[in-house]
Amino acid sequence: MIKKQKRALVCGAGGFIGSHLVKSLKKDGYWVRGVDLKYPEFSTTDADDFLIADLRDYDSCKKSLTGSIDEVYQLAADMGGAGFVFTGENDFDIMHNSSIINLHMIKLCNKMSISKIFYSSSACMYPEHNQMDPLNPKCSEDSAYPANPDSEYGWEKLFSERLYLAAHRNYKLDVRVARFHNIFGPEGTWTGGREKAPAALCRKIAEASDGGAIEIWGSGKQTRSFLFIDDCVEAVRRLMESDFLGPVNIGSEEMVTIDELAKMIIGISGKKISLKHIDGPVGVQGRNSDNALIKEKLSWEPRGSLREGLVETYPWIRKQAEKISVIPPQKKMMESREVRS
Ligand code: NAD
Repeated sequence: MIKKQKRALVCGAGGFIGSHLVKSLKKDGYWVRGVDLKYPEFSTTDADDFLIADLRDYDSCKKSLTGSIDEVYQLAADMGGAGFVFTGENDFDIMHNSSIINLHMIKLCNKMSISKIFYSSSACMYPEHNQMDPLNPKCSEDSAYPANPDSEYGWEKLFSERLYLAAHRNYKLDVRVARFHNIFGPEGTWTGGREKAPAALCRKIAEASDGGAIEIWGSGKQTRSFLFIDDCVEAVRRLMESDFLGPVNIGSEEMVTIDELAKMIIGISGKKISLKHIDGPVGVQGRNSDNALIKEKLSWEPRGSLREGLVETYPWIRKQAEKISVIPPQKKMMESREVRS
C-alpha cells in the first residue's frame, strides 16, 4: 500500500528554528508549507510552498491552513534575546502580537479539523523566584506554579500554553507543548538587537581584535544552558511523533556561567580576549533545563556538548561578520579542525 505523504505547516518558517525544522521535515518526505513575514535570511527555504503573510491577520492564518494540512508547527512569535525582551520597551508588542497569532491558529485548527499542532513555549515562563541562585535554579515542569515569570514574553508563553492545553481538553485537539531553553546554531539571528547570548558573544569575539576586550552584560556569573539547533529539531519531531502532550522542557542540562560561555568561544576563536563587565539587561540569575521528564517520556537527550555546537556556530557567525565589516578573513581557524560528532 502506498503511504500518504504527510502535509505540514510551519509558522515562523522564515525564522531560525522554523527554517531548520522545514529542512528536517522535507528530509523525511513531508510536503511542507512555510509561512512568515519574511523568507529565511541565510539560506533559501526548502518548503514546497511559502506564504509571506502576517499571522496577526485571521484571514492569513486561514489561508495558510488550507489544503489538507495534517500537522501544524506554531513557532511564529515576536521575540528576541535579552536586549529585546528585558528592556520593557517591547512589552506590548510581544504580548499582543504573539498571543493574537496563537488565538487565531488554535481556533482555526479546531474549525478546520486540523488536530495535530505543536506549540513552542519558552523556559522564560518559569517563576523568577526559583531562578535567583545562579548555581541552583529550578526549572522542572512541575515548578511552573505559582506563576511568576520575569518578563511579559514569559507571561504570554504561559498564557498560550494554557490556551493550547484548554483546546485539547475542550475540543480534543492533539496538541504538543514544548518549553525551549536557549537554542543556538548557524543561521540564527546574530546581530541587530534580537540575538541571544551565544550569538551575541560569537559576534563580539569575531569582531574584536586579538588582544582586545569584549563587553559582557552583568556580572558574567549568571548561568544558563544552551541547546544546539539540530538537537532541538530532533526533540520537536520526537515529541510530535509521541503520545505525550507536554508541556516538556527541550534544553540542555550543561549549565555554564556567561563568563564560561564567553571563554569557551574565545578558546574556539584562537584569539586572546579579555572580558569587561558592564550594566545591561540580564534576566534571571540562573536557568538550566531539567530533562528528567523528557528522558522518561521520550528517551531523549542532546547528542552533542555545548562546545561542539559552538565549534559549528562561531565560524558561521564570523563569516557573516566578515561579509558586512572590515574584519579580515581569518587564515586558519583552529575550530575548522574540530568536527561535531
Ligand atoms: P525567530 O525570531 O528566528 O523566528 C520567529 C519567526 O516568527 C520570525 O521569522 C518572524 O518573522 C515570525 N513572525 C513573527 N511575527 C509574525 C507574524 N505576525 N506573522 C508571521 N510570522 C511572524 O525565533 P526562533 O528562535 O526561531 O524561535 C521560534 C519559536 O521558539 C518562537 O516562538 C520562540 O518564542 C520560541 N523559543 C525560542 C527560543 C530560542 O532560544 N531561540 C527559546 C525559547 C522559545
